[in-house]
Amino acid sequence: MTTGSTDYDIVIAGAGMVGSCLALALARLPLRILVVDPAAAPVAAPALSAEAKFDARVTALANGSQRILRALDLWSPLEAHIQPIDAIHVSNRGSFGMARIRAREERVAALGYTVENQYLQQVLLADRLRWPDTEWLYATRVAGALAEADRVEVTLEGNTGSSVATTRLLVAADGSRSSLREALGATVTQHDYGQTAIVANCTTQAPHRSVAFERFTATGAVAMLPLPGERCGFIWTMNSAQGDALMSCSDAAFKTALQEAFGYRLGRFQRLGERQAYPLVASSARPIARQRMLLIGNAANTLHPVAGQGFNLALRDVSILAEIIARQSAADGDSGAAAALDAYQAWRRADQSKVAWFTHNLIGLFGNDRPDLRFGRNLGLVFLDLIPGAKGLLAKHTMGLAGRLPRLARGVSLDERRARQ
Ligand SMILES: Cc1cc2nc3c(=O)[nH]c(=O)nc-3n(C[C@H](O)[C@H](O)[C@H](O)COP(=O)(O)OP(=O)(O)OC[C@H]3O[C@@H](n4cnc5c(N)ncnc54)[C@H](O)[C@@H]3O)c2cc1C
Repeated sequence: MTTGSTDYDIVIAGAGMVGSCLALALARLPLRILVVDPAAAPVAAPALSAEAKFDARVTALANGSQRILRALDLWSPLEAHIQPIDAIHVSNRGSFGMARIRAREERVAALGYTVENQYLQQVLLADRLRWPDTEWLYATRVAGALAEADRVEVTLEGNTGSSVATTRLLVAADGSRSSLREALGATVTQHDYGQTAIVANCTTQAPHRSVAFERFTATGAVAMLPLPGERCGFIWTMNSAQGDALMSCSDAAFKTALQEAFGYRLGRFQRLGERQAYPLVASSARPIARQRMLLIGNAANTLHPVAGQGFNLALRDVSILAEIIARQSAADGDSGAAAALDAYQAWRRADQSKVAWFTHNLIGLFGNDRPDLRFGRNLGLVFLDLIPGAKGLLAKHTMGLAGRLPRLARGVSLDERRARQ
């Protein structure tokens, strides 16, 4: 619903998965929200098809993310398209080290879940119908932002020219190439891995039995994720030159190379979907909040996808930010007050740094064939498998259940009044 006024409590730049989740979380609060994205307006599918599509990107969702999506009422429409992960099997090609993390040992129903992005996006799209007061403006980008004491002036550029909106808080969820980081005055640290991730779906001779595999090789890593309908989705990272060669070779040659890297734990690879390639650059911006502007999702932290943490980390950004905004707007109606921004940064700092550090060092340790590191990582995997405490701690972090949890991650409503009922 558009009211004609251009003054908002919150403007969100970016309607990707992260910007959309934030908008849907905040829609519960009595706030005026505008979401802006340069993409063309999406067309909602009439109903989610139960049929397994073959070519699609997959996201591994941590346990903590499942709780957040459930608290936002987004989990039950997704459930038909979800594959629980009962165990994670980590190994090192050609070496003795290996670790297994099992759901029952961690006393959880599943270690995590996989879902194809197409279904997640459809569910987010369908949920908007419940919140007609939130405005979604497509084919328009946030071109600039000027912070003043009590508001931000946001320049919007669309096909028909530019206009200005004002807001108490501008949230930049505009992805890894965020142009708004500069407006916020953030310093961006980038690391180009010189690697490519090739992503595709496949079927295998043996059933996956709800196990996810993370296999490190001399040149990179293969994450093989179980999907509904006895399919798997894989992310295979390698150096860029090898990536170019594997993107242009035949399906048969690709399957042979994948088989060699992954081994025969799932028998032979059979059907192979369309391959997609992503160049791998990690980045982090600091500070992530200043003067009524704030960065979330890939705009704040872009991670190497090997550990499947980017969206999970971003959902924690969303749940914590939504909780702080709910508290702040109930206190004085100003969602962009300095106290809210400070509280957000203080709460997010440790989790963001730890996950970025863990993901980056995983690549350094496993994406490197130096003999000293090879021995160290084999030992690491053996010890991880033998020492319950170490495994449990790693599992807690990767499940998104470590540290101080926000209300949504505990399944508690954002709205204080609803929570008390
Ligand atoms: C191969 C691969 C596999 C992955 N697997 C996993 C996984 O298993 N688990 C996991 O947790 N994470 C995974 N990730 C990471 C995850 O996909 C990202 O963290 C997540 O998609 C980031 O979403 P985002 O909304 O922040 O950014 P994006 O999806 O990039 O969205 C940004 C949006 O901002 C819009 N935009 C850009 N500029 C502007 C502007 N000026 N004004 C307004 N809007 C703008 C864009 O149009 C876009 O819609 C994976 C990533 C890759 C590459």
